[in-house]
Amino acid sequence: MEDCIFCKIINQEIPSTKVYEDDLVYAFKDADPQAPVHFLVVPKVHIPSANDLKEEDQALLGHILLVISRLAKDLGIAEAGYRIVNNCGEDGGQTVGHLHYHILGGRSLQWPPG
Ligand code: AMP
Ligand code: ZN
Repeated sequence: MEDCIFCKIINQEIPSTKVYEDDLVYAFKDADPQAPVHFLVVPKVHIPSANDLKEEDQALLGHILLVISRLAKDLGIAEAGYRIVNNCGEDGGQTVGHLHYHILGGRSLQWPPG
């Protein structure tokens, strides 16, 4: 989608530090890391937010979680633990309108979030 920063990252129009890529998803380091390990996993198709998910996205969502599980092991945070975050909408703190999952690890994380 035009004017979507994450679509531009997926299309290599904006640089990013790639962590992983396949036909369905792109993963890259967050530009403003909130933990020693902080990367984002996004679908390659433009889905604005969790509010826009449809039945047909079920397989994609399952794939995203499996990719996250694999990357967490590869990046060495699986054993100690980590957090998967999806901010949705204004109250959820979403600032980029392309569905994305934050993966945060490498330190002890507080609960509840602010
Ligand atoms: P959210 O606030 O949940 O919408 O998360 C958006 C995230 O995207 C923030 O953590 C930003 O630091 C991150 N971000 C924004 N622009 C870029 C970029 N060009 N490269 C990497 N991460 C970015
Ligand atoms: Zn997009």
